[in-house]
Amino acid sequence: VLPPVDGDFYDISHSLNDEDRALQLKVRAFMENEIQPIVNEYWLKAEFPFEIIPKLAALNICGLTYEGYGCPNRSFLMEGIVAMEMARIDTSISTFFGVQSGLAMGSIYLCGSETQKQEWLPGMQQLTIMGAFGLTEPEVGSGAAGGLTTTAKREGDTWILNGQKKWIGNATFADVIIIWARDLDDNEVKGFLLRKGTPGFTVEKMHDKMALRIVQNGLITLTDCKIAESDRLQHADSFKDTAKVLKMTRAGVAWQAVGCARGAYEHALKYTREREQFGKPIASFQLIQNHLVEMLSNLTAMQTMCFRLSELQDNDLLKDEHASLAKVFCSLRTRDVVSKAREVMGGNGILLEYNVARFVADAEAIYSYEGTKEINSLIVGRAITGFSAFV
Ligand code: FAD
Repeated sequence: VLPPVDGDFYDISHSLNDEDRALQLKVRAFMENEIQPIVNEYWLKAEFPFEIIPKLAALNICGLTYEGYGCPNRSFLMEGIVAMEMARIDTSISTFFGVQSGLAMGSIYLCGSETQKQEWLPGMQQLTIMGAFGLTEPEVGSGAAGGLTTTAKREGDTWILNGQKKWIGNATFADVIIIWARDLDDNEVKGFLLRKGTPGFTVEKMHDKMALRIVQNGLITLTDCKIAESDRLQHADSFKDTAKVLKMTRAGVAWQAVGCARGAYEHALKYTREREQFGKPIASFQLIQNHLVEMLSNLTAMQTMCFRLSELQDNDLLKDEHASLAKVFCSLRTRDVVSKAREVMGGNGILLEYNVARFVADAEAIYSYEGTKEINSLIVGRAITGFSAFV
């Protein structure tokens, strides 16, 4: 009898209490039973499987760590475990969920007024209201902190927004999009709740992505879009507030990288035990075992790092540089794991039906979004040296 295929080598799940373990297994069952059978078809079509939404909502995991507004108020560790379980089957679904639950709901939870939270969060928690997060622009990615060109001009109780946003996940169908724009009066970045159908707002689906094909990314154009002062996020006064949201979600992206690596490792391990060459399973060859062990070392290092990261977050000790270091390390190591997984699967490693090729492509997006490896490195570099390399 062969040992079980399990990428949790140091048994991190063992640290979870019964309730948390049950939630982990519930999410895993959903991903294995509802997503795995359809994922490659949707990835190829580059469409989102909207039919999964009611079952996803029934898991009651949206806004997992938030308190009130129908949210479950669970730990950041569980939020990480959920992100990992989702990405272990498919990083696109995990990204869709991260945009809704982390970036969009998180902006409202951390920067919204009580009235704004009451209006949006309960519906978003139930996935009856869809959200998106618009920070990146066609000409401004890494330099968003100081360089946003989307403008907001206040006229009485109305703001006039102009500009473009690129790469915005869920934007093609979102009911509300958080738009980050520069206030022309004080030059600070402010956040706005842009409602679907607002005159002057258009969104085009971005086509022909080679990664995260299920995620619907949009190019948004805002032409004299009028937004009421009551739809300005009342506690977002500068980019420092945007950064609070990103600190929280970057920790989730690190866990997502773990899931992507874990999915690829588990597929590869299973494959090498079944595939025979020279009359023997290829898993019995020393060089293949060496590859598998390298993958597992990286995976285990990432998992243990993220476990501690979540502990810091749960104890309110998380700093920007902590989240950034995990994002750097995990997105880098994941690239290594998925490419080794592809390698040990030979030619089948590039066929969609064997799943690993999808993880290889998706690891590239994880590497670049929510702050590239370089930008997150500079955040850590600034913290440890005392010198900022940004300016
Ligand atoms: P650039 O900023 O042009 O960077 C190009 C290269 O230059 C990178 O390697 C970068 O690290 C490097 N570089 C830049 N500045 C420096 C420097 N000072 N020192 C060293 N190297 C540097 N954005 C949103 O707002 N909402 C979303 O929902 C969203 N979803 C996304 C989904 C996907 C699939 C992708 C790919 C992106 C998404 N993004 C989203 C955008 C994402 O956050 C940006 O792609 C990212 O911030 C990098 O910006 P950029 O692509 O413009 O690259």
